[in-house]
Amino acid sequence: MSQPRTALVTGSSRGIGRAIARRLAGDGMVVAVHYGQDAAAAQETVDLIVRDGGRAFSVGADLATPDGVTALVEGVRAGLAAHTGEAALDVLVNNAAATASGGHLADETPEQFDRVFAVNVRAPYFLVQGLLPVLRDGGRIINIGSAVTRIALADELAYAMTKGAMETFTRTLANVVGPRRITVNTVAPGPTQTGELTAALAAMPQLEGMLIDGQALPWVGQPEDIADPVAFLASEDGRWITGTVIDASGGTYLG
Ligand code: NDP
Repeated sequence: MSQPRTALVTGSSRGIGRAIARRLAGDGMVVAVHYGQDAAAAQETVDLIVRDGGRAFSVGADLATPDGVTALVEGVRAGLAAHTGEAALDVLVNNAAATASGGHLADETPEQFDRVFAVNVRAPYFLVQGLLPVLRDGGRIINIGSAVTRIALADELAYAMTKGAMETFTRTLANVVGPRRITVNTVAPGPTQTGELTAALAAMPQLEGMLIDGQALPWVGQPEDIADPVAFLASEDGRWITGTVIDASGGTYLG
């Protein structure tokens, strides 16, 4: 029997990451479900995957620190070896992010700025460095970006800059790993209904209409709307697409 394909989805204890982990497991991959703080939520993701007939295990690591990145690399290698008999990865999804730096230009501190860059840029960079030796030829690296790189939102300046850095990482890394037939792409969501947006919609029901008014498509983006294009890029069908950004925002602010 051939080896199952494998995936690591960072930040898959909830939100978009959970939807991606469930979708890739549904496509037959053994999935490493990574979390930062919430071990119980990660276990819930694993349980949902197992309930649906898939295979998964969880790994915790705080990606704000270099030690956390090292711990994740080691945890994933050990977990894959234990669950598949081989420490080999096919798909790395860099999804975890500090989704707000905490401040605005006027009052942001260097510590807030450094933290959002550590989680959103430094961690994926060194995760790729640590996992490339076990990423199979023909593998996939998929970064979750954001439409904020093309839509200027004044109160998300530092966060938007991290996503811009990841688009540059995507393009250049694609050339670095292309000879091994590894593809690298970014999927860039617009507003997507995860925890924060769910709370905002509950507090302000008119927000739904406001969001839809700014989009081409008439519903609020759901985590599965992001997981599906990720699954396409992860599949054999995505083999010729690399170094690019796929906007998955339902056509947010097309003009
Ligand atoms: P959530 O805030 O719902 O979840 C974030 C995930 O990242 C959690 O699993 C969390 O783990 C993990 N995480 C956060 N900080 C750390 C850290 N320091 N170390 C390790 N893990 C961490 O995010 P979303 O699902 O909303 O977003 C997922 C991705 O999509 C992000 O890259 C985000 O920037 C992007 N995006 C989201 C949009 C949206 O509207 N939702 C819009 C555009 C882009 P835990 O809870 O266990 O700590």
